[in-house]
Amino acid sequence: MMRPLLVVLVSVLALGDPVAAQTAEPPAYASLVEALERAVLAGDSAAYLSLASATADRNAAERFARENLYLGVDHATVSPRFLVPIEDLPENTGYELTVEVFSESGTRARLETWRLEIVREGDVGDDGVWRIRDQTHVDSIDNLHHLSLTPTKQYAADNLVVLGEDLSLTLTEGSVFVAETEIGVTGLVLLGTGIMRFTPQPEAERGQVRIFSGDETLEVKFDAAFIRVHPEAFNAHVSTSGLVEQAVEPATLRKASAVFDEFIGLSFTLDLSEISDRLWSLNPGVGNFLAEVRTRRYGTLTYAQFGQQPEDISLQTREGSKVISLYASARKRATEGRYFADDDTVSLDVLHYDVTASFEPLGTSQQSLSATPELLGCRVVGTTRLTVRVKGLPIGAFSLRLADELEVTSVTSSEFGPLLFFRLSGQNSLFVSLPSEVPGGTEFTVSVSYAGDLSAQQLEETWIASRSFLFEATGLFGVGEPRYVYSNRSYWYPQSLVPDYATAMLELTVPPGWGVIASGLPHDTNPPVTRSPEARPRQFSFAVIQPARYLSALISQFEDHPLPRRQVRLRHDVTRPSVPRADGAVFYDTLTIDAQGSQRSIRDIEAITNQTADIASFYASLLGDIPYPTLTVTLTDSRLPGGHSPAYFAVMNHTLPRQPGVMVSWRTDPVSFSSYPSFFLAHEIAHQWWGQAVGWKNYHEQWLSEGLAQYFAALYAERDGGPKVFTDIIRQMRRWAMRHSDEGPVYLGYRLGHLKDESRVFRALVYNKGAMVLHMLRGLVGDDAFFAGLRRFYHQWRFRKAGTDALQLAFEIESGRSLSRFFDRWIHDTALPELQFSSHTETTATGEEIVLRFEQLTERLFDLPVSVDLTYRSGEEETVVVPVTDRVTEVRVPARGRLRRVGVNRDGVALATINR
Ligand SMILES: [Zn+2]
Repeated sequence: MMRPLLVVLVSVLALGDPVAAQTAEPPAYASLVEALERAVLAGDSAAYLSLASATADRNAAERFARENLYLGVDHATVSPRFLVPIEDLPENTGYELTVEVFSESGTRARLETWRLEIVREGDVGDDGVWRIRDQTHVDSIDNLHHLSLTPTKQYAADNLVVLGEDLSLTLTEGSVFVAETEIGVTGLVLLGTGIMRFTPQPEAERGQVRIFSGDETLEVKFDAAFIRVHPEAFNAHVSTSGLVEQAVEPATLRKASAVFDEFIGLSFTLDLSEISDRLWSLNPGVGNFLAEVRTRRYGTLTYAQFGQQPEDISLQTREGSKVISLYASARKRATEGRYFADDDTVSLDVLHYDVTASFEPLGTSQQSLSATPELLGCRVVGTTRLTVRVKGLPIGAFSLRLADELEVTSVTSSEFGPLLFFRLSGQNSLFVSLPSEVPGGTEFTVSVSYAGDLSAQQLEETWIASRSFLFEATGLFGVGEPRYVYSNRSYWYPQSLVPDYATAMLELTVPPGWGVIASGLPHDTNPPVTRSPEARPRQFSFAVIQPARYLSALISQFEDHPLPRRQVRLRHDVTRPSVPRADGAVFYDTLTIDAQGSQRSIRDIEAITNQTADIASFYASLLGDIPYPTLTVTLTDSRLPGGHSPAYFAVMNHTLPRQPGVMVSWRTDPVSFSSYPSFFLAHEIAHQWWGQAVGWKNYHEQWLSEGLAQYFAALYAERDGGPKVFTDIIRQMRRWAMRHSDEGPVYLGYRLGHLKDESRVFRALVYNKGAMVLHMLRGLVGDDAFFAGLRRFYHQWRFRKAGTDALQLAFEIESGRSLSRFFDRWIHDTALPELQFSSHTETTATGEEIVLRFEQLTERLFDLPVSVDLTYRSGEEETVVVPVTDRVTEVRVPARGRLRRVGVNRDGVALATINR
């Protein structure tokens, strides 16, 4: 699903294009702007007042000049941004002009936004003279510094220690240079011989450090380091006793400056290159700390502590962007607990999207043979109108997610008019400034227009090791039908920073002969998705009436087929648990299934439609709900198995015979169940319920989507293929889960296998171990409580984003027992249990009893069901499931005769090593 929020290490702002530059000729008020720029440069209030119109309030103008002009400016730029006619004045006689005023004084600068009412007076020439009638100070960023190392200061290090939480940098010998602002040191460069030590406190994070470095403490030599800190926090991080002032050595200063220049622009920086040729830095917040550590062994390691993030400590490789550690600081762990929601980090709730977009494919299958597959995509031109609500505290600005490749041409609001915006380069982010503070609870709309060439994305789930991704991007080049997927990783429309439920209307246009399948109920007036003879572009409409976490579109050329739509009806005897609901969404008892495919896959379309109907009917009866009223299943061409299942549709790769030279090893993948080929389809269809209808609140919780989809697919396989198929699937899941469990807890989500680029580890644990945990839970609490718990969880969290805590609670309510240790061990811990098993027969007053004894050998106790198969000499067989929940568990079974054989965990349900 979507990439999780990573700590923002680099914040480079790029200004949007000035609106006033849209006309080639200099605007009539250009001389006013020039005069304003001179007044700002001179800090001259009188000069400002001379620009006031005859009708201006002179007291207000004087007050504004006093507060906003100052002496000592040595460079000033006034940039017009918006021009809006004043409605009650005759045409071209008055405007509201928004300007950005940038002024430098030595190594300090400020960036301000002013809104001016300008009116035309007199009749000098044809244009008259433009004057300021009124003015408002909208916003300012005033702590900008142009930083450099202080050339007169050098320190000799004598076991200098720089500390961050769980981190120490010791410079045993070498030199230290500082970068200062007027309130103290904000930057440090360390040169010489140093040792970095990093030992994260959370156990799971130590496990990741061990995978990365071979040891739970990452200890590595460094020869240079760059530190940023708030001046007031300097003493808390740096042992100043380890600094001895010395004479400056020019050659060493030059080396230190080179280190400084390499890193200063990478964080806490505003890119104002359009208006200044110098680099401008912001002060880190008091709770922020950053260290770039140059090592020979790992390249540069970036340690950061950013108080604003839920997981505020991170360690990453600078060059490979590998996340080694990401966790909450001790203070946050103590005050905020283990569970958090991505939602807590955003200030806006998006309620509804109106997306109008056109897609023009950029490459045909012929051209793409020579092109880089990753670059294939479409020209996307769109306008999206978002209806949003301010969540809590008042806001003066907000951010949206939008692909960097899409150039934004305007941002406007029905309520606030045109809005200032910035792109955060390299972050797929759009920063929008509001004209004034907007209180919590306010609803408003914002429309964003954009255009650009945007790569299509891979299918979300590629059932294959990552090295083969290259061939997957847009289908089978030169052989299959090209297809372009824009979904959760594309940021093809401006959207909430985190995936969030919203309704939507989509109007999507494609060239003649192309079709679109997208999130939402297809509109009755849509053209047929398949090729049609018309020569005009074709427009398709979709209504997302039941909320979706993100919006998706699939563009391809689909083959005509005669199959009608299929309908699946929810059984009438299904009852829904009565749980509080906040979603406002409705319930459907019918699902309409449509299927589309490429030319090569069309012969399979009938079988796929029938199977999809059967699968969906099974899931609907298990959960008592159909979340989305339509489902379009689509087959596209590819060499590799894979799929993706956004709300309202699913796309499956229709795999073709192997091509020479393509390495495919998917038979050795944790999720390739060769005994049941429909497993992929069953997994993808399950995502309509798990992952789409019920979401997950941050990257740790992805197992709720994948583990449940995987388990539902296994349940369907059992119903469709019988118990033998089910047992084979469980055994394979167990094998992969056991093999990779030591790579970390299920709760690490996408980070499992990330450091080694081994996506099989991710699938082995998040998919298979997740499903096995559910199956073991079922064995412990019994079928009734298990399926009631699933239904409770589903209905309570429909169209919301859940966490493991919510799942646990639902099962606790239905089973009447505490499950915190169960989820702690199986989801949050890495280790697996080791058990000692023995059995013997005892003769008692009432007859012979078989005693089954389990002892847990691992220090931490687990809860798990273990099956014991008893085979009697008579040939009779009996299976006993023992709930192992104590250090020693003993179960007595009345013997039905003389025992021939005792088997333990033959069904492979228990994820444990069992000695006997
Ligand atoms: Zn999945």
